[in-house]
Amino acid sequence: ALEARQLHHAFGPATVLHGVSLSVQPGEVVAVSGPSGSGKSTLLHLLGGLDVPQQGEVWWAGERVDTLDTQARAVRRAGRLGLVFQHHYLLEDLTILQNVQVPLMLSGTGDPQHAQTLLKRVGLGERSREMPGVLSGGERQRVAIARALAGQPAAVLADEPTGSLDRANAQRVAGLLLELAREQRAGVLLVTHDESLAASADRALHLLDGRIVERTGEEAAGERPAATLFS
Ligand code: ATP
Ligand code: MG
Repeated sequence: ALEARQLHHAFGPATVLHGVSLSVQPGEVVAVSGPSGSGKSTLLHLLGGLDVPQQGEVWWAGERVDTLDTQARAVRRAGRLGLVFQHHYLLEDLTILQNVQVPLMLSGTGDPQHAQTLLKRVGLGERSREMPGVLSGGERQRVAIARALAGQPAAVLADEPTGSLDRANAQRVAGLLLELAREQRAGVLLVTHDESLAASADRALHLLDGRIVERTGEEAAGERPAATLFS
């Protein structure tokens, strides 16, 4: 499981997180919403080990990681966590296939063929030798999703992964992420402003005034669209 215990974090005088605890179990999809500036991206950065909390603990698969140095965290991350951020950082000097293979190379485990299989699944199997620079925004997001899942991570962190796409493409890309994650039994923590996407998660959390508020089943049910989006 991926776990945050009592995270406190401030930027200068502004405290953004006031004791946030949450966990994501294998195969579970958890959506996080909240106003702009409420600390959603900060929370994901801390959970993903891109930054360390001023107080509190971050655990990946039974190991506390906020006390490790940056390099050790990067190595641990490669085998355990996939990241999909809005400005998905594809490596522009590597081919599309090589981008997806990065987590496999870093972790030194996994099946190299899996990268090509994932690219096929996101509809980019024929483009694997091209460079990321030629791709559209939605295609780049699909590469980022394939890459996030390539290392067979226990969990995927996604920060508004469909934020820059039109509605139809956003649903398609989010559907792919959830479908692939469910197949691999990876947990997903998803920051999204999209209510129908949040409603399709197993749990919906709200970040407000630096604290997590769990949305009730009734609330979530009320927001659930008539047809399930990602069946
Ligand atoms: P949005 O929905 O707009 O993406 P968010 O919930 O992701 O918002 P964060 O990006 O986590 O919000 O930012 C939370 C607060 O922390 C904001 O007020 C932001 O200005 C501040 N903040 C975030 N990162 C830094 C930083 N590196 N240095 C200083 N302040 C920061
Ligand atoms: Mg953000």
